[in-house]
Amino acid sequence: MTALDDAVPDDPTDALSAAPPAGVRRNGTPLGRLKFCYGPMDCGKSTLALQIDHNHARQGRRGLVLVRHDRSGTPQITSRIGITRRATEVGTGTDVRDLVREQWARGGHVDYVIVDEAQFLSSAQVDQLAELADEMGVDVYCFGIATDFRSRLFPGAARLFELADELQPVQVEVLCWCGLPGRFNARVRGDEIIREGDTVVVADTLSSETEHSVVESSASARFQSELATLRYQVLCRRHFRLGDLGPATAQHGQLRLS
Ligand SMILES: [Zn+2]
Repeated sequence: MTALDDAVPDDPTDALSAAPPAGVRRNGTPLGRLKFCYGPMDCGKSTLALQIDHNHARQGRRGLVLVRHDRSGTPQITSRIGITRRATEVGTGTDVRDLVREQWARGGHVDYVIVDEAQFLSSAQVDQLAELADEMGVDVYCFGIATDFRSRLFPGAARLFELADELQPVQVEVLCWCGLPGRFNARVRGDEIIREGDTVVVADTLSSETEHSVVESSASARFQSELATLRYQVLCRRHFRLGDLGPATAQHGQLRLS
């Protein structure tokens, strides 16, 4: 073996290497990652979304911030600690790839995409996000609620569980009345859990004025009128299963002992 042989580089990241290192495509575009951060209502997902946007922007990366649902006139991500950021609304028929292409057409660059309320994405839209990661090297961060009031996965959340590279539960300070982590958003009328009905309503009623309620626009008028009587309560699995809303509600329910 000569000194010359020893000089031949075998570092895969060397430009002379024929094989690209893991995670780098042959055309040089690094693979993006698709990540889903999920948790119950009011667990701080939107705050985390805005923090991630801030961190990336500070490093000079440029991103798109999308939200699937927003009842305010101007689409935005609103965190319950009072921070907001303008966002682009993703409609029912929106092809998310088009939003990135439009940015490119304007000469912009897209390093990352952040999607809030991602549980409301369609299955096809999640597929589009995966394509953005694989084919265009875009890092995609989705934030949303995993399960509806029946404890069933939302369509967007289900597809994200199937496709995401990384799943991260967000469990910040949301506890059931018993002290266990709150994992389920119970729909409540009076002192009873409602387990049937339209599945698309996820209203944040944890008395936060800054985190707006989210209501599917296609909900029937009759159903809309019923919304006023509904509230949501975060419960652990056991108390969700039992329909036990805790001592505060028991007081109100004294006449209904069964
Ligand atoms: Zn509990």
